[in-house]
Amino acid sequence: MSSTITEPRRYDHLIDGVAVASSADRLERRDPATGRLVAEYAHGGQDEVDRAVAAARQAFDDGPWPRLSGADRARLLRRFASLVERDCERLAQLDSQEVGKPISIARGEIDGAVGHIEYAASLAHTERGDAWTTLDTDFVAYASQVPLGVAALVVPWNFPALILAQKLPYALAAGCTAVIKPSEFTSSSAVEMVRLAHEAGIPTGAVNLVTGLGPTTGQALTSHPDVDVVSFTGSTQTGRLVASDAGRNLKRVGLELGGKAANVVFADADLDRAADAAVYAAFINQGECCVSGARLLVQRSIADEFVAEVARRTRTLQVGSPADETTDIGPLIHGQHLERVLGYVTAGEQSGATAITGGGRLTDDGLGDGWFVAPTIFTGVAPSDRIFQEEIFGPVLSVVEFDDADDAVRLGNDTVYGLANALWTNDIATAHRVGARLRSGTVWVNTNVDGAPALAFGGTKDSGIGREVGHEGLAEFTESKTIQIRSGDRKLPFPRRNGGVA
Ligand code: NAD
Repeated sequence: MSSTITEPRRYDHLIDGVAVASSADRLERRDPATGRLVAEYAHGGQDEVDRAVAAARQAFDDGPWPRLSGADRARLLRRFASLVERDCERLAQLDSQEVGKPISIARGEIDGAVGHIEYAASLAHTERGDAWTTLDTDFVAYASQVPLGVAALVVPWNFPALILAQKLPYALAAGCTAVIKPSEFTSSSAVEMVRLAHEAGIPTGAVNLVTGLGPTTGQALTSHPDVDVVSFTGSTQTGRLVASDAGRNLKRVGLELGGKAANVVFADADLDRAADAAVYAAFINQGECCVSGARLLVQRSIADEFVAEVARRTRTLQVGSPADETTDIGPLIHGQHLERVLGYVTAGEQSGATAITGGGRLTDDGLGDGWFVAPTIFTGVAPSDRIFQEEIFGPVLSVVEFDDADDAVRLGNDTVYGLANALWTNDIATAHRVGARLRSGTVWVNTNVDGAPALAFGGTKDSGIGREVGHEGLAEFTESKTIQIRSGDRKLPFPRRNGGVA
């Protein structure tokens, strides 16, 4: 089935439910598979960002959303989830067209987004606080998690709907109001999801959106004095800028940044499953995935046979139109990124590695108008090579062999990143020991690029600060508030052993 969305879309900002036109030149988005114009977005300046933040501020300070019961917030979030589910096919087509991701992957992405909204609804309903009832006679206290206020949610282009759903419903469940800044390459699904949130009955001022470029619109938002918390997903380079702005303004900040996951295969693993997963992890979403298994570490005794099998399976992947149901790999996001990825392929060759499959751009069979790169596997890679060290964010897999568990851990941790790693073994002790020593927010055992809304996600080292989704995802948008109640006279003017505040 080809995409049913053929007319180019034109979107404005959404501020308090009103479509607000662009003050600057609009941004064009072209289908990365064909070059065809598919969307135009508004480009927000300081004025539009100010208006969006003001709407969110008012909705937080005076509006109903933070004051609704948890049950009511949950009910509206569930309605939001069911509307996203209703429009799954359209949202999937928008993301498929703008990211260039295969439609099958895009459908899975929207399904994942629905799961997050439903899970956040359950958190809104069940959140509870702590009470202290044995502090002193006539003295009790309780603490609750209160919403931080106005949340700025900045989203990248690789999983536009899913990453928005890893932020927005958790912020809303906490009682925050939000201003969203989607990627300048892939804004359509975010605009349409905001409309669905409003259709569900979530107050218009609680969810606002400004589209535009990062250094202008994005920076105006993340450094805005009336924003209380920034939740940012994107590159480590941009994350550092956002963090330093947040530091200057003393805002809470959550950063979900780059990765360079290792996929560690021990000789005793189920090698058939491990080979399938190695291909999946390296090439899902064209390798434009923060947890992509871009470094394949294989135990030396099985390396030749295993890598040959991974390469054989990789050659069966269908590269083509994202709208085609049978496509496994679509185009890269844009021409500049294609050049960057091809630059890494050249760097791999220059450092002496061998591309045993792929190794360049694909232009035959109608692919010439798009940014297609053949899934590429490099062997003969040295751990110090740039292709092993740096996040390529494309379909390029680097293979390195290891001798034993210590060697695997050393190589696995030999990166500035720490987002996710995976290991394959049938030995429970190896799973526990290596899993504990790999430095990353997530370690998968006998699975890869996996997860569930209940499981917190985030990175260590240069992969970020904080955790998204799960209960921790709600906590990103709250802070603790303690109410201390004394109903009788206080015995001492300065309580000592009871630990009064100095
Ligand atoms: P990016 O950093 O270029 O942009 C991300 C978002 O930030 C975009 O909306 C952009 O407009 C905005 N932005 C850019 N400059 C800004 C600034 N100065 N101030 C405020 N906002 C600004 O990243 P990208 O190219 O869109 O996404 C790819 C990167 O995202 C990769 O490094 C990938 O690993 C990472 N990523 C991480 C996760 C995760 O969960 N850790 C998930 C997906 C992607």
